[in-house]
Amino acid sequence: MSKTFKAFQITKDDQGQKVNLTELSEQDLMEGDVTVHVDYSTLNYKDGLAMTNSAPVVRRFPLTPGVDFAGTVIASENDRFQANDQVILNGFGVGEVHSGGYSEIARVNGDWLVPLPDGITTRQAMAVGTAGYTAMLCVMALEDHAITPDKGTILVTGAAGGVGSVAVLLLSKLGYQITAVTGRTSESDYLHSLGASEILDRQSFSEKARPLGKELWAGAVDVAGGNTLANVLSQIKYGGAVAACGLAESMALPTSVAAFILRGIALYGIDSVMAPLEKRQQAWQRIVKDLDLGKLETMVSEISLEEVPAAAEAIMAGSVRGRIVVKVG
Ligand code: NDP
Repeated sequence: MSKTFKAFQITKDDQGQKVNLTELSEQDLMEGDVTVHVDYSTLNYKDGLAMTNSAPVVRRFPLTPGVDFAGTVIASENDRFQANDQVILNGFGVGEVHSGGYSEIARVNGDWLVPLPDGITTRQAMAVGTAGYTAMLCVMALEDHAITPDKGTILVTGAAGGVGSVAVLLLSKLGYQITAVTGRTSESDYLHSLGASEILDRQSFSEKARPLGKELWAGAVDVAGGNTLANVLSQIKYGGAVAACGLAESMALPTSVAAFILRGIALYGIDSVMAPLEKRQQAWQRIVKDLDLGKLETMVSEISLEEVPAAAEAIMAGSVRGRIVVKVG
């Protein structure tokens, strides 16, 4: 291992939180039984919150942010891994209470790591990243509810963002008809290119929802919460389901039980952070099988560690399209 390595570090004192790109050394690494050379990380919405201190994502100081990474094992005391294995990390409090992916070297608990599946590179794994893997978990929840393509159209909110874009791409390859909801109708061509057949302006989902609306969608993937999710729920067809993973609009859910008790619909909560290993591995295998990696590349921008602060501002402003990969090592 080189003597020092480049990493972001968030510190906190009486004046508040500061984020710096700095040089760290081995003694700065946190506890863990696997040391990884980080090839790539990504910028997720949660990383945007952490880097700009817009929400208390980081809860231990000093800490390196970055909720996910993919890289190569340098040293391991964990039976599941050995040097030169390629691995993916996402969640488990990494980038929140344990130092994360915005560092050339990371040390973590090996039980948090997923072996990189065959057929995907570390860069592609981070093009998918937490956002894409969460999109896969959402799609799997709809499948578990027996929502097959013949049941009707799937609605995807926040469609031009990370989770939304990958959800559209996945659902399209699986043969679903997709309606994309976006605040950026200027991105219609992009969303059509990913596989959406219809684009709706998110304004029509932003007002307070009626308990029941017209039954339009067999299922939905929602990243927004708030009035958007309430409106989506009111438009789900009898027996359908919504996979909800985000709060891009709001943490609130201003709705009633009407659609649940009169239409028998289901609301699945999707959590990627503490998802069990078996489910993670299943999701990554499905990503390799069911995601068009060529099209994925069309939604990716690659940045350096130095460019992360500006990109974090952009994701908070809702102006990032698709996925951002951070080249670290
Ligand atoms: P992005 O910023 O890439 O995408 C979010 C998108 O939401 C935006 O691009 C925008 O899409 C839409 N949006 C923004 N503001 C609003 C609003 N006020 N009302 C409705 N839609 C809005 O973030 P990610 O895709 O990385 O994450 C999306 C959400 O999912 C976040 O809330 C994130 O915290 C959550 N998440 C949860 C995970 C979990 O484990 N549960 C894991 C990963 C993410 P458009 O411009 O198309 O309207």
